Amino acid sequence: MINFTVGPVQSSEDIRNIGYEQVPYFRTEEFSKTMKENEKLMLKFSKAPSNSRTIFITGSGTASMEAVVMNCFTEKDKVLVINGGSFGQRFSELCDIFQIPHDDIKLEVGKALKKEELYKYDNQGYTGLLVNVHETSTGVHYDIEMISDFCKKNNIFLVVDAISSFLADDFDMATLGVDVMITGSQKALACPPGISIIVLSPNAISRVENNKVKTMYFDLKSALKNGERGQTPFTPAVGILRQINVRLKEIENSGGVEAETKKIKELAEDFRNKIKGMPFEMVSESMSNAVTALHPTTVSANKIFLILKDEYQIWVCPNGGNLKDKIFRVGHIGDLTKEDNSKLVDAFNDLIKRGIM
Ligand SMILES: *Cc1c(COP(=O)(O)O)cnc(C)c1O
Repeated sequence: MINFTVGPVQSSEDIRNIGYEQVPYFRTEEFSKTMKENEKLMLKFSKAPSNSRTIFITGSGTASMEAVVMNCFTEKDKVLVINGGSFGQRFSELCDIFQIPHDDIKLEVGKALKKEELYKYDNQGYTGLLVNVHETSTGVHYDIEMISDFCKKNNIFLVVDAISSFLADDFDMATLGVDVMITGSQKALACPPGISIIVLSPNAISRVENNKVKTMYFDLKSALKNGERGQTPFTPAVGILRQINVRLKEIENSGGVEAETKKIKELAEDFRNKIKGMPFEMVSESMSNAVTALHPTTVSANKIFLILKDEYQIWVCPNGGNLKDKIFRVGHIGDLTKEDNSKLVDAFNDLIKRGIM
């Protein structure tokens, strides 16, 4: 099988081997050391400002999105949500659930956020902005520098879901003035699903400390306190945190976050070059290196997904809902190579030869 989905993605052999080992007991010096290394490398790779902190939540990416909405905002906030697909919609629904006053900037499928659309909300008392920097459902990568300038100008607390963009696209929390960055284990970190990660700036830490939350599991105050000694309040996904440790050190030892991003970018460009002239339209105006979203012009997108899976053992990523027949996505994150890209392109050519596409 070759896995071009957007998560869980392919893991390296070293990561998979840890999955085979016994899971150790975790209230130990050794596990605390692992966690402290994890925190340190996450702060380094996200380029977080000094005195930032990292929290590891046992739960998928959405668990951290929910925890952040609960811990960083109250009914007194006025939040702007960039809603350009199913992940933006998720932030909007979380604000509904926790009664955080919010307005959505709704974008059409594949459309980038334009400056004039954003600046309609200038000087209107917004206190927070939620954005999925890469809206994975459509492959759109938003102009985060433009969003950052807007937030700095309006003194807005900026939360960035970088779950599918972390490591794949350049990102500098400190320079951009990002208060919270969220990511997850099963995207470019290329580990199994089950852990999501929240990086909090000092400003975000003080929001968390001053907010009274009605939750036990998602109380980030207690996560911060336990994290001081490299521990978590409850039993975490110990095995995945050990895999994350190996993966972060692997990135560190092979040139750091810049080298990793470059590798993913080259894979994406290689794929995009190889499919030139094929019956596909690019869906998004502005793409992340993590994913290429394609609209096949001659056949249903879902049919391509099914045939590739069943007859070629190649997995691309289907879309759901009303995009099911229109769009499928090809990921460039995880343990993939340019040879893997060629195998996928060969399969596309075969579909053309068979008259399917
Ligand atoms: C994958 C992803 C998530 C998290 O989804 P989970 O299924 O909860 O892990 C959130 N936001 C974006 C942009 C994603 O790509």
